[in-house]
Amino acid sequence: MLVDPVPWPNGARCAVSINFDMDTDAFLHPMHPDKAHTMQALISWLRYDEIAIPRIVKHFDGYGIKQSFFVPAWCIERYPKAVAPIVESGHEIAAHGYLHENPMDQTRESELYWLQRAAGVIEEFTGRRPTGWRGPWAGFTIHSADLLAQEGYLYDTTLMADSQPYLVTTGSGDFVELPIDITLDDWPHYAHVPDLAYLIPPKAPSQALQVFKEEFDARWKHGGFFTTTWHPFVSGRLARLEAVGRLIEYMQETGDVWFATMHEIATHVRACIDDGSWTPRTVRMPYYSEPVAELANEHVNAGKTGTTWTT
Ligand SMILES: [Zn+2]
Repeated sequence: MLVDPVPWPNGARCAVSINFDMDTDAFLHPMHPDKAHTMQALISWLRYDEIAIPRIVKHFDGYGIKQSFFVPAWCIERYPKAVAPIVESGHEIAAHGYLHENPMDQTRESELYWLQRAAGVIEEFTGRRPTGWRGPWAGFTIHSADLLAQEGYLYDTTLMADSQPYLVTTGSGDFVELPIDITLDDWPHYAHVPDLAYLIPPKAPSQALQVFKEEFDARWKHGGFFTTTWHPFVSGRLARLEAVGRLIEYMQETGDVWFATMHEIATHVRACIDDGSWTPRTVRMPYYSEPVAELANEHVNAGKTGTTWTT
């Protein structure tokens, strides 16, 4: 079903990069600037990251795989001891905003400011400039692609327009897109957080694992790419992390799987493009820079009396 799958190294059928986003309480502060600091119980739930991250790193190391963590730079400054094992074990730290500020709430100028500030903190902590970006809140503005290209990013992993890597082109250059899939996010499966108005009945880890396995099977069958948007305070808990381990074992037993960091995958994809061994689908961004012209038609919304739905 994939028209032209990426030729993965050593004839692998599927590239796998299990990603964790270490948000901790970063997002809470811009979300509730007046009261976030008073929400002690919720913060304690989020600060599970402090014990979950070393545990996850140990888990990955036990399976002999290097994976990727997307970390708001403020979390590195606030929780350096939790982040250190990621770097010490050779996993990738990539950019995920500074205070998990939503790009959709920024001007172009402020979006660039946070992008550069976050990159500076990561470079200072890891000794390496981040090459990848995942927009906080999956936010991606009409300026984001241009700014990422301008700042020299190798890859983005916020968009969702394919089941395999593709190339995003902009006025300032291009980058590899490693698309995510909400099905492979852990919030829809587990998040029951009354303080944040998430009231999803949590699945048993074995049920979520079944979803992840079937997603992997299809990607393996068609020569695709598997990545996750998991969170240490959600999926790093005991039973759920055991399920993650069972998933890794299942993938390793299946065979012909290339476990790699997002940086390694994007580097490989870029090399295939450059040497002509693979031609990517290209997507020009932004999709729109202004409202579509058809909205000027007087019949559009002519009978609308008010908002009928919300998201
Ligand atoms: Zn996040």
